[in-house]
Amino acid sequence: MEKYIEEVWENCLKIIKDNINYQSFKTWFLPIKPVKLKDNVLTIQVPSQFFYEWLEEHYIGLLKKTIKKELGAEGRLEYSIIMDNSEDPAPFTVNVPTGEKKAIINPSVSMPIDLNKGNSKEIPNPFIIPGLKKIRVNSQLIEGYSFDNFVEGDCNRLARSAGYAVANNPGKTSFNPLLIYSGTGLGKTHLSHAIGLQVKNNFPDKTVLYVTTDQFINQFIDSVKNNNQNDFIHFYQMIDVLIIDDIHNLAGKEKTMDVFFHIFNHLHQKSNQIVLTADKPPVEMKGIEPRLLSRFKWGLSADLQIPDLETRIAILHKKLYNDGIEIPQEVVEYLAYCINTNIRELEGALISLLAQSSLNKKTITLDLARQMIDKFVKNTSREISIDYIQKVVCDYFNIPIEMIQSKTRKREIVQARQLSMYFSKKHTKASLASIGLHCGNKDHATVLHACRTVNNLVETDKQFRTFVEELDKKIKL
Ligand code: ADP
Ligand code: MG
Repeated sequence: MEKYIEEVWENCLKIIKDNINYQSFKTWFLPIKPVKLKDNVLTIQVPSQFFYEWLEEHYIGLLKKTIKKELGAEGRLEYSIIMDNSEDPAPFTVNVPTGEKKAIINPSVSMPIDLNKGNSKEIPNPFIIPGLKKIRVNSQLIEGYSFDNFVEGDCNRLARSAGYAVANNPGKTSFNPLLIYSGTGLGKTHLSHAIGLQVKNNFPDKTVLYVTTDQFINQFIDSVKNNNQNDFIHFYQMIDVLIIDDIHNLAGKEKTMDVFFHIFNHLHQKSNQIVLTADKPPVEMKGIEPRLLSRFKWGLSADLQIPDLETRIAILHKKLYNDGIEIPQEVVEYLAYCINTNIRELEGALISLLAQSSLNKKTITLDLARQMIDKFVKNTSREISIDYIQKVVCDYFNIPIEMIQSKTRKREIVQARQLSMYFSKKHTKASLASIGLHCGNKDHATVLHACRTVNNLVETDKQFRTFVEELDKKIKL
């Protein structure tokens, strides 16, 4: 008897969830819909071709194992991909064997999808002036905002790789538009310039334009004043790669939205690339016309998150290296521990520190950094983060911080993990569930248990109590 599809997929999800971190699980597995189960072949629907490729590249081993566990050795997996260029999803099926003997086929060979072609027909455009093909455009790109200078981390992996894919194949991937969203200071502007620069590098003939939404709005208002709206529209319709930063600023600007809608449609039909940034995902944007929002969702929306400690350290190193400045590693780490709001503030703190040291002719030491951070962070209200706690605990016991996330049950690691949970509960506002997720993907009950264990040991074990007191001091430093 065939099993129920929902049940099978639920079970698969359980296995997968136990094997990867929650962020990845949320990003890559929760959006999947099981659509069919027949003859031990499970068909899952994924939102885009990119999604499918990502799964194949990163999770094929896990998927294979999971399917085998649930459906037996005969079990197989098929993907159904939603085409991005249409408002009604048109599922397209690829066959991917996950059985024992067969190798995994190369998706680019197996998929007869022509991503250049949308489902929309070419509509002749009255605005295009025949013969006027190439225009000279000042791209407004900033050299320093390159991919080379954009440090990769878990916080930005999807957005970065999608941006990279777009830059190497503008208009020809299914990420059109590519919408990058995040809170302030997390790299939207940088990444969107990086895409533009990379396109210029790869395809010198392509016209690339970076504009902020405010510039776009002002140009439009000017064009209305000067009665040359058509020139404005023509100009934008000839751009090969159009990058518009902070598109949420269109909110409430009815006329500009309307004209942008037409420009968008035209560019999209010609398979020209559109890159947008915003402070929120389309579903949460306010004051933007629904027809525009639905277009924003055609391609890929990818977010940038607050970088973890390692990435923050790497970002500081990159800046220092680029500027040819050396400062002690402990100072770099200290800055990265303390500033966990966003990257702009992290850079701000570094610049203040460099300025302090050169103005007062003081060498950069941990003490100087502490004094500066005390002042700097008072204004930005420093919060102790779970990352920071883990780092202090691991440094204290001299174990690598990655071990906290590992599955190991070695006594000293278990203890470090429990202490991290205990201090996170004590010093942060994070929920038990979120503490658990950050400390090796555990559930809230495990965190509670850890807190109890630490409390018990503090009462019964003198040595342990000393550890806890010393650590507490270090964390509050
Ligand atoms: P947003 O547009 O999201 O407000 P920005 O792109 O202006 O943020 O980024 C703020 C600062 O942080 C910039 O100086 C940028 O170079 C830097 N930055 C952001 N992300 C990274 C990264 N991944 N690697 C290196 N620097 C970064
Ligand atoms: Mg910006």
